[in-house]
Amino acid sequence: MTVAVYPGSFDPVTLGHYDIIKRSSSIFDHVIVGVLNNTSKTPLFSLEERVKMLKDAVEDLPNVSVESFEGLLVDFVKQKKTNVVIRGLRALTDFDLEMQMAQSNRVVAPDVDTVFLSTSIEYSYLSSSVVKEYAKYGVDLKDFVPECVISKLMDKMK
Ligand code: ADP
Repeated sequence: MTVAVYPGSFDPVTLGHYDIIKRSSSIFDHVIVGVLNNTSKTPLFSLEERVKMLKDAVEDLPNVSVESFEGLLVDFVKQKKTNVVIRGLRALTDFDLEMQMAQSNRVVAPDVDTVFLSTSIEYSYLSSSVVKEYAKYGVDLKDFVPECVISKLMDKMK
């Protein structure tokens, strides 16, 4: 059974993330979405809120689970008894940072590999930051985030 970990901040989950999760779930037997508790960032949504939104968003995908983690990604990956990390790539701007992360992870954990899925074209511009900016100005969010996230975002912006 091949298990893969898809890590990120997911502040909040977007349709771009959901697309990567869904496509990964048809490649791997099980996908664990790992929500990072990054103590050096101040997210809009708490860790619990981010996990809850993701769980609601992936409800229709039976081989996907959602967990939070803190500390090193490679430690979480090993704890889950796998060696596959999934990351999504949008533009060239993602590439530098993603490459650096994948390579540094391999230095500390040589058996852990990162699999990159390229964004679907319709989501290539989409990020959690863009969504938060749109929410601030009352833009209709239905093309950007899963249904269950819309009301949560509107509440935060009040
Ligand atoms: P992080 O802070 O770890 O980058 P994010 O939640 O921003 O967390 O992103 C998690 C992963 O999802 C990253 O690999 C990112 O490149 C990818 N991703 C984000 N938005 C999209 C999108 N629209 N299409 C494809 N991949 C995406």
